[in-house]
Amino acid sequence: SEDIPQPLTAPKDKLLGGLLPSGFDETSCLSRYESPLYSKGLQHKPSSYLISGLRRYEALHKQCGPYTELYNRTVDLIKSGEYSSDSSVCNYVVWISYSGLGNRILTLTSAFLYALLTNRILLVDPRVNLSDLFCEPFPEVSWLLPPDFSIIDQFNSFNKKSPHSYGYMVRSNVTQNSRKPSFLYLHLSHDFDVQDKLFFCDTDQTFLHKVPWLLVKSNNYYVPALFLIPSFEQELNNLFPEKETVFHFLGRYLFHPTNSVWGLITRYYQAYLAQADEKIGIQIRLFNFGAGDFKYVLNQILACTTKENLLPQVNLNEPIVNSSGKTKTVSVLMTSLSPRYFEEIRNMYWENPTVTGEIVSVFQPSNEERQQTEKLMHDRKAWAEMYLLSLTDKLVTTAWSTFGYVAHSLGGLKPWILYKFKNGTVHDPPCFRAVSLEPCYHSPPYYDCKKKTESFNSVNIVSHVRHCEDNSLGLKLF
Ligand code: GDP
Repeated sequence: SEDIPQPLTAPKDKLLGGLLPSGFDETSCLSRYESPLYSKGLQHKPSSYLISGLRRYEALHKQCGPYTELYNRTVDLIKSGEYSSDSSVCNYVVWISYSGLGNRILTLTSAFLYALLTNRILLVDPRVNLSDLFCEPFPEVSWLLPPDFSIIDQFNSFNKKSPHSYGYMVRSNVTQNSRKPSFLYLHLSHDFDVQDKLFFCDTDQTFLHKVPWLLVKSNNYYVPALFLIPSFEQELNNLFPEKETVFHFLGRYLFHPTNSVWGLITRYYQAYLAQADEKIGIQIRLFNFGAGDFKYVLNQILACTTKENLLPQVNLNEPIVNSSGKTKTVSVLMTSLSPRYFEEIRNMYWENPTVTGEIVSVFQPSNEERQQTEKLMHDRKAWAEMYLLSLTDKLVTTAWSTFGYVAHSLGGLKPWILYKFKNGTVHDPPCFRAVSLEPCYHSPPYYDCKKKTESFNSVNIVSHVRHCEDNSLGLKLF
């Protein structure tokens, strides 16, 4: 009633509209419930079907997770190598750690969606800093594969030629035997063979359905190809009525920075971003970079930010002294392995006034010079920077970069994407606006399951999958 004093600000939606489960200990993972204080919240509303699907998954995870009785029983099947009854209650997808952090976040999300669709439990490879970067996403029972898992030492050697790989089994007709393997390896990386691609066919899914342990290695966001499997179509439509929200929702559900990473994020945010009227993120990622390209890359960044009205131009001719009291402030958060672009842009806005009178400050948290995946502080900073970029109002990212995909999709932002940098030229136009929130799947299978041939027409099958703007062979949901 009117007598009850109202809080000045409405309490923030801690559980993200029901996406997150309640009941976690808050202090052990501060980011889980504090993130709405920093981010804009979800850009769309999750479907009630997704929410109940997640709660159902959590219940199953609790029943089948590490060291539960059912887990112990299913683990025993690996020893025998084969398995003949259909009575296994718990089936698993094991995500194998592989590639850079952006790639890992995208493949983990893909594996989780596959687990949701097939009633499997997702267990994650605990190596490579995983538990130092991400909190446990599921209540009560861990998602970390126990380090005593009997074949964990073989993970690094799994490749498309391994006898345990599905492709190999198809080639050698093992899949026709009456005795079924208790585990198999799915090679879903960019270099997969045609037999590995059969994973994306319904009949092969029927076979895989009975295998208790599926171990997956990938360096790609293969979610769009799951939408091309007819038997998953209805379920995916129910889970995601808005197709472009898949990573936005699942990423916010799964990836909560640990307290050490959250410290990096919140300290940086409060020191450099919180006070600004507007926050702009710029992510620069150079693949195969030639030393002479510096000025072209710099010019492409500036051409994009001015052409798209993301940042004001500077007045090179006359110094304008801004006399009025309050001026608009813009904070630019840059990320790159190199410090050169950030230094140049920061100096430009110091040495010259802007034509609008706005005050532009430019920051970059780190410049690590090269990728050093597996070094803990390096990985922490990479994760903190992806997350910080996701907290900006407008975002410029680099074509092809999964680091950039994670940042924009997590934040629910449609970024301006810089065209792939080319030797000795500035791409014209310098950048384009993304059509959807979704990451791009760089190397889709392109296999026609009905005709049993490789084919480049699979995009026409469904209306919400298209080629990526930054990679014409890639596929993305929109
Ligand atoms: P992608 O190669 O751009 O698709 O992204 P990945 O994240 O998979 O791999 C690149 C890796 O290089 C990151 O995970 C980081 O380890 C490092 N890296 C690249 N760009 C940056 C950056 O701007 N900041 C930091 N801290 N690390 C970066």
